[in-house]
Amino acid sequence: MAGPKSQNVAEAAKSASRRRPRRLPRSRYTAAEVHEIFRRFAVQRPEPKGELEYVNPFTLLVAVVLSAQATDAGVNKATRALFKAADTPQKMLALGEAKLGDYIRTIGLWRNKAKNVIALCEALVRDHGGQVPDSREELVKLPGVGRKTANVVLNVAFGQPTMAVDTHIFRIGNRLGLAPGKTPEEVEEGLLRIIPPEYMRHAHHWLILHGRYVCKARKPDCPLCVIADICKAAEKTTDIPAPLVEIAPLEGAG
Ligand code: SF4
Repeated sequence: MAGPKSQNVAEAAKSASRRRPRRLPRSRYTAAEVHEIFRRFAVQRPEPKGELEYVNPFTLLVAVVLSAQATDAGVNKATRALFKAADTPQKMLALGEAKLGDYIRTIGLWRNKAKNVIALCEALVRDHGGQVPDSREELVKLPGVGRKTANVVLNVAFGQPTMAVDTHIFRIGNRLGLAPGKTPEEVEEGLLRIIPPEYMRHAHHWLILHGRYVCKARKPDCPLCVIADICKAAEKTTDIPAPLVEIAPLEGAG
């Protein structure tokens, strides 16, 4: 007979299942393996940097907005002159949409991007005294700023341990089975769960650089890979890891 006790158990189980986080596909790596992967990335690049150029949180935010469907190198070419002319929302508004467009004409979708940047500057001046907010909640309210852009700004400009999942990180999460997921959000959540806290701050850059230069989209360059012995990707072509040495900071920048 179901007495009050079994009823309580049923209720407790129900509320526990309500609290239980969404089920994500499991990482194929043990905690020790994940730790070793990031230890090696840290040896390779002790102070990894993104490749977008910026001079303050505002210019970083603008550069990230401009970089959608464009290369970092292409964005840098345009923003070097732009940021000399306008490195605050107020100066960008004074410059105006037409002149801003002249600076960024070489970047894809420049007309729309110029409009977005002006709307972004208006919101920053109106709602934040011209400062870039340092919370995700406020950042995603800004025009043209999605979760990924907010994560980049929080990580790079404010040092917060976020994971902005771009095309490289999404591929690595799935190809290696490190944090499998159908959407960038699932991969983000999976990575946030498994990456040891001491490596979280730089993990975003390490994964992007690994994806851009070694574990490339079409054909991974496994002989150059320092985690080839740990990697469980079906596509890998060797089990022998590349020598673990520090990569000169400027190598690959551009
Ligand atoms: S071994 Fe190959 S597939 Fe695995 S992470 Fe390295 S480059 Fe990518």
